[in-house]
Amino acid sequence: MTIYNFSAGPAVLPKEVLQQAQAELLDWHGSGMSVMEMSHRGKEYMGIQAQAEADLRELMGIPTSYKVLFLQGGASQQFAMIPMNLLRGKKSADYLNTGEWSKKAISEAKKFGAVNVVATGADRNFSYIPAFNTWQRDANAAYLHYTPNETIGGVEFNWLPDVGTVPLVADMSSCILSRPVDVSKFGLIYAGAQKNVGPAGLTIVIVREDLIGEVLPGTPTMLDYKTHAENDSMYNTPPTYGIYIAGLVFQMLKRKGGIAQMEKTNIAKAKLLYATIDASNGFYNCPVATSDRSRMNVPFTLKDANLDGDFVKQADARGLLQLKGHRSVGGMRASIYNAMPLEGVQTLINFMNEFAKNHG
Ligand SMILES: *Cc1c(COP(=O)(O)O)cnc(C)c1O
Repeated sequence: MTIYNFSAGPAVLPKEVLQQAQAELLDWHGSGMSVMEMSHRGKEYMGIQAQAEADLRELMGIPTSYKVLFLQGGASQQFAMIPMNLLRGKKSADYLNTGEWSKKAISEAKKFGAVNVVATGADRNFSYIPAFNTWQRDANAAYLHYTPNETIGGVEFNWLPDVGTVPLVADMSSCILSRPVDVSKFGLIYAGAQKNVGPAGLTIVIVREDLIGEVLPGTPTMLDYKTHAENDSMYNTPPTYGIYIAGLVFQMLKRKGGIAQMEKTNIAKAKLLYATIDASNGFYNCPVATSDRSRMNVPFTLKDANLDGDFVKQADARGLLQLKGHRSVGGMRASIYNAMPLEGVQTLINFMNEFAKNHG
């Protein structure tokens, strides 16, 4: 039976990447050792990391005026590092509140400065993105932070906020590499790797150089972007194996036609799944506003929540795993990142149609 893993994160990785890692596990390219065992300052490993960075730059079209940092601590550590590094003498930062991850970023930022919440989706249970013309922005904000894809609520931006000269900061943990983005429009992009890139333990930060170097007093060395920027992410031991796997993913993406090609497949997958939900006569329901529905994380409920347990059990039996929704939302959630093949979504919707027919 083919297994399809719909986990929100850590999430499915491309099979061919895992197979390559397996083939190279004990002896990387004739080095006689595993990547895990290599000195991070050795020629072999330095080559792996440099190639990973070059490939990511190529895939995303990252301008040379941006640093690419390979860090640890997860996206959650960025919730603190961003205000510590980017307040830069200003008193306040703008934050958009579109759900669970926005809220965490906001509460952490409040430890370091004032937070101006420009708009919130709380009035409709975070099922939509507040229209840009309702945002109460502060012209003097140090930066504006938003979450382009809310992994739990399944709300995703299909547009780019134009905040002028205020640096735009985006938590792309669950949408990085899923669609093309114009990096030059951002001050900083960050993402935990474990959704759409690689294994947990690696955090990617892409930051415009001129924003680096003016941290809050007392900022620990390890939490200063400058430390990592000046040392090619090798101030201390980087998460070497995670960077290696991410590098294999980048090479695979390049072979497959890059991010534009990924986006096409991602649109096709999401369309199929939402169409199934919408055509179910209310048996399935997705609470998210049609224009703001995520291509990556598709939350849906069953008309009768008493059927949830059966749904999950029967899905499991067919190799459709990890569909149970986040504890804060309930229902189901299908995460359909880059590495989820179209056949996985087709198998899921066949099952959903059959389940609805048997229980409708
Ligand atoms: C998963 C996730 C996080 C948290 O990531 P960690 O690496 O576990 O800290 C933050 N933001 C978003 C949008 C996420 O999906």
